[in-house]
Amino acid sequence: MFDDLYQELILDHYKNPRNKQDLSRSESPLVENPTCGDAVRVKIHWNSEQRIDSVQFDGWGCAISTASASMMTQILEGRNREEAIAICRSFSAQMRGEEDSRLENWGDLIALEGVMKFPARIKCATLSWHAVEKLLIEN
Ligand code: ZN
Repeated sequence: MFDDLYQELILDHYKNPRNKQDLSRSESPLVENPTCGDAVRVKIHWNSEQRIDSVQFDGWGCAISTASASMMTQILEGRNREEAIAICRSFSAQMRGEEDSRLENWGDLIALEGVMKFPARIKCATLSWHAVEKLLIEN
């Protein structure tokens, strides 16, 4: 399915997810992808300059959903609300093939480029992004 290098990156984020915390007591809703059984919760921490200090996530699921959430928390760090929303929308559009891929400039996220070829897995990759986008828009 993936190049070896990308496979390794995905497995690294899956086994050692960045910014994964127990959010079961938080108010964040659990967002689910029933076709695969993935579930994720996200929480955004803002700094005094209205930029994202960190994004935390919690949940369970396949390697792609977990790795994607982990990578997402990295790219959103330091962004303001508008930037973060734009990144989330762009990622989903890229996954659906509606936008040219820019993942090569998005750090570890390049590893998910292969997901586009597997429509059944796109929801795995975009689940946490939709969850964050919802929080960004609503709060
Ligand atoms: Zn999945």
